[in-house]
Amino acid sequence: MAFVELENVTKAYDGGWSAPVKALDRVSLTAEAGQWIAIMGPSGSGKTTLLNILGCLDQATEGVVRIDSVDTSTLTRAELARFRAETVGFVFQQFHLIPHLTALENVMLAQYFHSMTDEGEARRALDRVGLTDRARHLPSQLSGGEQQRVAIARALVNDPKIILADEPTGNLDATNEHIVLDLLADLHQQGSTILMVTHDEQVGRCADIRLDLEHGRIVETTHFSMEVNQDFDEVLEQLWADRERTFHVEPEHFTAAQQRKVVAMMARIGLVELRAGEVAFTPRGEARARSVIRRHRLAERLFMDVLAIRDEGSIEKNACTFEHILSPEVTDRICTFLGHPRTCPHGSPIPEGDCCLEARGAQLTTQLTNLQTSLLS
Ligand code: ADP
Ligand code: MG
Repeated sequence: MAFVELENVTKAYDGGWSAPVKALDRVSLTAEAGQWIAIMGPSGSGKTTLLNILGCLDQATEGVVRIDSVDTSTLTRAELARFRAETVGFVFQQFHLIPHLTALENVMLAQYFHSMTDEGEARRALDRVGLTDRARHLPSQLSGGEQQRVAIARALVNDPKIILADEPTGNLDATNEHIVLDLLADLHQQGSTILMVTHDEQVGRCADIRLDLEHGRIVETTHFSMEVNQDFDEVLEQLWADRERTFHVEPEHFTAAQQRKVVAMMARIGLVELRAGEVAFTPRGEARARSVIRRHRLAERLFMDVLAIRDEGSIEKNACTFEHILSPEVTDRICTFLGHPRTCPHGSPIPEGDCCLEARGAQLTTQLTNLQTSLLS
């Protein structure tokens, strides 16, 4: 059985003189333990209502809501409150910290409502979000990003089975948005189930599954599996090669119709755009293409120069695998190890990384110093 199961869930609000408002209209969904799900959609589409029902803050008018095999529609208010405290950790856009309590006390308050306070455990929750040295600060003495991290520590302290986040990065600047997303990604890696409402495409991309709501209904479900990401990368590589007019071989595993579908999905999440019927990069798509081309060509260099593989087919096949799994850090290390090569074995340029720029900077400094020395002597 799935960890979260909604079957034909409807939530209607009294519309006064007019017809009832259906904030959710026969929504069905399932989520497995450990999945990260992004709930997206325009304002008023029912995102918060859905999250509140999942978090047992509210109950459905009709339909079945099962979380961890418990049918929450059958629980009394008191049972629901208990179930919520034991199962769910919330993160809100507005942080909702108590202003006159310190970071540590805010975390301990969540323990108090759950069972017993335990300062050591609360401190460990703050450690997990990187706020060890902020425990005694009041919310007003913390930045927005730090406040949201305290709120995440508070959500984590009771070891919830599911984390619900409503626009968790909605009030943060870009730097803090990254910190909070990295933190959620860590929790996801460690096995947490995360359901997150967001209207930001890039934030939504961190999830495994994206649900699009419109007028209280799920209109689209997108799975960002490893395979889909690889399909995106292949389209991006082809675009890059077309622009460079270099020859590019890709394993043929899409039909033209599949490719159109992949391109449409990429347009929706902002990796490409259609300009006069032509597929073109967005800046984000271009940056991702650059990165995947760099990984592919460096992998080719590595196989040919270091591992002395000479068979074209096997170089290509291995490079196509490696390009998807090399982290930026490992890529830069390979690049440095290879002496920042400018071209792949077929002569196509390898896009430069940060490591190449640093190396070039260092080289220039040495040349300048040498020049100075020779001028002075
Ligand atoms: P979102 O989070 O996507 O912006 P909400 O879930 O907050 O959307 O709201 C969905 C719809 O339900 C909206 O039309 C909203 O006006 C309505 N709604 C939400 N809460 C209530 C309420 N307590 N009473 C009446 N209508 C509500
Ligand atoms: Mg909302």
